[in-house]
Amino acid sequence: MKLEEKFPFEIKEERKEIENRKIENVEGMTIAGKTFAERLEKTKGLSDIFELVKRGVRKVLGFGRAGLNLGLSDLGAPQGGFIGAFYPVGSNIIVMNKTPLRRIRETNTTLYKPYVFHVLLHEYIHSLGMTNEEMTRKIAYEISHKLFGQNHIATKMAKNIVKFLPNLVYPDASWTPPTMGLVELVENFDRSNIKYYS
Ligand SMILES: [Zn+2]
Repeated sequence: MKLEEKFPFEIKEERKEIENRKIENVEGMTIAGKTFAERLEKTKGLSDIFELVKRGVRKVLGFGRAGLNLGLSDLGAPQGGFIGAFYPVGSNIIVMNKTPLRRIRETNTTLYKPYVFHVLLHEYIHSLGMTNEEMTRKIAYEISHKLFGQNHIATKMAKNIVKFLPNLVYPDASWTPPTMGLVELVENFDRSNIKYYS
């Protein structure tokens, strides 16, 4: 079964809601006394950040999915840009492009966690059945804004990634990498099977 068929109702409803809604939260969300920004700050590694993505999406949209893996691979650089990550439609894996990931971690530590959050959020929205690229970006912005407030780097990235990473390319949903070598699985990436966040 295609994921588009699994979630069409929810996505359509959310879409209407998102298009009609004004964003009012400027400070970001606080959960159990901690802001989302603090929670992102405390994450240790990719698995932690993805847990936060899923938790945040569930908070804002009211649904999510489990059973996703994370892989790392070299995804190449189409038209001089780079791909942050991609989600093969209908699959159960998000593949992050490891070269830019390592570069950003080494050269710009302030951007690293917001960047990981941003690209995982974007691909996670795709994995929920949203194939429209423009809507995916709108939803990613809306969610980031709700979670982090308007001044957080993750929100600013969702608003306009070009300001931060001018060479980042979002492929359309049908894109597959011209060269994808070995995909290394990130262990314990999806822990929501054993630990459920409400
Ligand atoms: Zn996309």
